[in-house]
Amino acid sequence: MIKLIIPVRCFSCGRVIASDYIAFVNKVNLIRETENREPTPEEIQRIFDEIGVKRYCCRRMILSHVNLIDDTMAFD
Ligand SMILES: [Zn+2]
Repeated sequence: MIKLIIPVRCFSCGRVIASDYIAFVNKVNLIRETENREPTPEEIQRIFDEIGVKRYCCRRMILSHVNLIDDTMAFD
């Protein structure tokens, strides 16, 4: 499997986001497994609030990374 590595810090503000990314993926996967669906935008927002990612520059880092993984998984 191709593994894309999340940048350790946010490109814009420099906040460390690598550890938040793991927490984010765990919470998203929990919704996928228990509810058998993708999380809604409101749930994504709540997850970011819970793990303390406030600025949209940092949220962009994590969200865009999730999309990249989904794109490559299709070709696995
Ligand atoms: Zn940031």
